Amino acid sequence: MSRDVASRVPQQIAEAACSLVATPIVGQGAGGGLQLSPSDKATWLQGEGGVKKTQRRLTLEEKAKVLEAIKIGVERGYGYGRIWKTLKASGMDVSKRTVEYWYYKKYRGKVGRRGEYLPRELRIRLYEEALKMRKAGLGYKRIRKRIEELHGVKLSPAVIADWCSGAHSPYNGARIPTIDHLKPSPELAYVIGVVAGDGWAVKTNARSGEYRVGARAKDIEFIEEFARCLGKVLGREPPRPVPVEDGLLLVYVRSRALYQLLQKPIDIDRIRRFIEHCEDCKRSFLRGFYDSEGSVDNEGKIRCLNTDTRLLRYVQKLLKLLGIETTGPKISARKGTLLFDKKLGEAYKKRKNVYYIYVKARDKLKFYKLVGFTIRRKQQRLEEYVRCHGLLEDEPPNQLFPNSLFHSIRSH
Ligand SMILES: [Zn+2]
Repeated sequence: MSRDVASRVPQQIAEAACSLVATPIVGQGAGGGLQLSPSDKATWLQGEGGVKKTQRRLTLEEKAKVLEAIKIGVERGYGYGRIWKTLKASGMDVSKRTVEYWYYKKYRGKVGRRGEYLPRELRIRLYEEALKMRKAGLGYKRIRKRIEELHGVKLSPAVIADWCSGAHSPYNGARIPTIDHLKPSPELAYVIGVVAGDGWAVKTNARSGEYRVGARAKDIEFIEEFARCLGKVLGREPPRPVPVEDGLLLVYVRSRALYQLLQKPIDIDRIRRFIEHCEDCKRSFLRGFYDSEGSVDNEGKIRCLNTDTRLLRYVQKLLKLLGIETTGPKISARKGTLLFDKKLGEAYKKRKNVYYIYVKARDKLKFYKLVGFTIRRKQQRLEEYVRCHGLLEDEPPNQLFPNSLFHSIRSH
């Protein structure tokens, strides 16, 4: 696909699409304050009986009781967590989120906005330390004092109590809060490859700290594989692909860690340790990159386009390690070239030079065997080529990668 069409539109479209679709994760923003998406709110208000506890509709009587409890709690200076616990202790079956919702909705003005959150990294450090001190037998007040002495941060005893009792944790909503929590795996390498190619990593809202990482494409098997890998990397369910305009599918996750790792221009030194971890990781990265940016033409030429020559050179180096030689990078289209976008029906100028690399003819079979494509139409075209040229004889088609590159990898 044309790099420039892609690089010109994806941000706005992705953002527009993101704002239209149901937000897949609720309350994953800093600290897990209440962030109901419109659709969640709708479901919540309609109360779609019984599938999830959090969506159960309260009876009027129950609602009155909850509001009364919140009112009393607020007067006593309780947080919503404590109010919820009290309600629960009195036998009331209500979700914490419901209490949180009404707490802020009704009393936001009176209790004031929540204070600024500490950066997640710091909260995690303090959390770990508080737990250690607690284990060593310190009381909440002494923990608070020690932390204030050590870090100059005043934590409320309620926060420390919540942490120690396991009711809250700064890891909530972000099992992988920072780059340091990412572990090398073929799935992560695949994600890096896709995002380094045609995907994106953006900060959608600097103040609330929302970070999104995703990609768009028309091939469902590719988008599903990308989603599966994102889920695996972040230790959660795979995000659901969403159809957007022009028959494209969009998938994204919110993740600061992945944003930090993958914001563009890609920092090769940052991604290196995840890619060069082992042979599998290298191959996964390359497959992700070629799924995203590569193509096979009618003559069986395996081409890959990108504006970032450093990245292309790195890809070449990795291919070489697998014994696959390439040519280039050569310039494909110069900055300022006037082109015509068929989809939009208008002319536009290239903003950056576009470069390409080719896999040398004699190494196509190696590429087919060691890297290949998840995208069926690309893989098929490549397979036809290697078959027609007598390169692939006795071997069954694509034995190495039945559906997913990773099925063959047992442990990592
Ligand atoms: Zn590895």
